[in-house]
Amino acid sequence: MFRMAYVNGRYVRHGEAAVHVEDRGYQLADGVYEVTEVRDGAFVDLDRHLDRLDRSLGELAIPAPMGRSALVAVLGEVVRRNRIRSGYVYLQVTRGVAPRDHAFPKKPVRPALVVTARPADRAKADALAEAGIRTVTQPDIRWGRVDIKTTGLLPNVLAKQAARAAGATEAILVDREGFVTEGASTNVWIVTGDGRLVTRPADHGILRGITRTTLMDVAAAEGLAVEERRFTLEEAFAAREVFVTSAGNVVMPVVAIDGRPIANGAPGSVASRLRHVFHAHAARTSLQSSNKCT
Ligand code: PMP
Repeated sequence: MFRMAYVNGRYVRHGEAAVHVEDRGYQLADGVYEVTEVRDGAFVDLDRHLDRLDRSLGELAIPAPMGRSALVAVLGEVVRRNRIRSGYVYLQVTRGVAPRDHAFPKKPVRPALVVTARPADRAKADALAEAGIRTVTQPDIRWGRVDIKTTGLLPNVLAKQAARAAGATEAILVDREGFVTEGASTNVWIVTGDGRLVTRPADHGILRGITRTTLMDVAAAEGLAVEERRFTLEEAFAAREVFVTSAGNVVMPVVAIDGRPIANGAPGSVASRLRHVFHAHAARTSLQSSNKCT
C-alpha cells in the first residue's frame, strides 16, 4: 500500500506529492499548521484544533481553504486512505502561490492546503513515557507572535537539534529573564512541592497547546489545582515533577534538564496519572466519509 497525501484538491501518492515552487509557505513560511492525534479510529480534540486553526488563519488574514465540514471530510479521507487507526494527521494552509514578494499578493490567490497522516507506535511512546525524557535548555530566540501556529519553525528546529545532539529528546526554552516559556514543540509544566500544577499563561509568549487546554479539564476532574503563572528554570530544577504536553506526546514526564535529575530522576506519579486518564477526558470525533474529491 502507498502512503497518500492530499494536495490542493487531489489525493496523491505521498512520494509524488508536491507544491508549487512559489508557494508562499515554501518560500516565506507564510502559512499555518495543525497536528491532531488519531486514536482508535477517532480524532482527538479535533474541534479545539480547528478552532485554533481558524484563529491562526485570522491573525494572518489567510482565508480558510474550505468550510469546516469539508475539511473534516478531507482529514478523515487521508486517515482512511492511509489505513491509520492510531497516529497523527497533519494539515498545513499557506497563503497560496504567487510571484515572490514579501507583501501579500495584490490579486487574491487561493490558500493552499496539504494534509498528510502517519501511524503512531503507541507501545514505543508508552515505553518512552515509562522511562521519561531528558531535556536541555535553550534560549528562546523566537519572534513575538508564537501564539500563532505558523510553519516558521527555524528556532524550534535549532533548539530540537541541540537537544538531539546532547542525547536529549526535547529542548526547554528559557526567556531572557530566566523564565521557562515552553518546549521546542511542547508546553512545559511543573508540579510544585505542595502538589500544584504550574504552567505559563498562554499569552503571546507561548502556543496555547490543545493538550494543555484539555489537561486543565483533566486536572480539574482529578481534583488537582492548576496555576497559570510564569515559573523560572530554577523552580523547574527544584520541582517535584516536570512534564511536557503536546498532541504527539500527550503527557510526557521529564526526568532531567541539562543533565540534572528532576526529583529522584524517575517519572512522577502526577504526570503518569494524567497521561493514563487523558483520553478519557479528551473529545473524540469519528472519521466522516467523503467522496467529494478524487
Ligand atoms: N508549543 C509548541 C511550540 C508546539 O509546537 C506544540 C505542538 N504543536 C505545542 C506547544 C503543543 O501543542 P498541542 O498540545 O496543541 O500539540
